[in-house]
Amino acid sequence: MIFPFPHEIYESVSDITPRELERLGIEGLLLDIDGTLARTDTPRPDDNVMSWLRLMEKSGIKLYILSNNKSPERTKSYAGLIGCRWSHRSRKPSKKGFLEAAQSLGLPPERCAIVGDQIYTDVLGGLRCGMKTLMVQTLDSYLWYFPLRRLVELPFRYRRKNG
Ligand SMILES: [Mg+2]
Repeated sequence: MIFPFPHEIYESVSDITPRELERLGIEGLLLDIDGTLARTDTPRPDDNVMSWLRLMEKSGIKLYILSNNKSPERTKSYAGLIGCRWSHRSRKPSKKGFLEAAQSLGLPPERCAIVGDQIYTDVLGGLRCGMKTLMVQTLDSYLWYFPLRRLVELPFRYRRKNG
């Protein structure tokens, strides 16, 4: 049984620095889109997120877009902005998409981290594969079902104690 506490919790992706990733032994990031890089109703990330993505690339961090979004167009267009590989409809927390992403980056799962805003998809799936899990505060708090989602996530919105 996995208790899906994330390894780290950040206010936003821009708080994840190259030094922080070095500390965690991370060489590749699997990125969630909706609520993480941008609001679900927004066609592209804002300037802060774009500069963070460029900083990651410049620092030699390998990037992969791992989205549960049904739209290949949306996922592809985000991946196009970064120039990285991607998969949509990934069925997180299923392990398959996570493991394929790591393989495609040429990294073992323990050198990868998932960056996402949801406990039961991003964090749970990452933990199941032995990845680090970096949770950010969601950008999707405007959604009508957000209070419900927050409520069911409440028990696990704390950092893991032991690795
Ligand atoms: Mg999300």
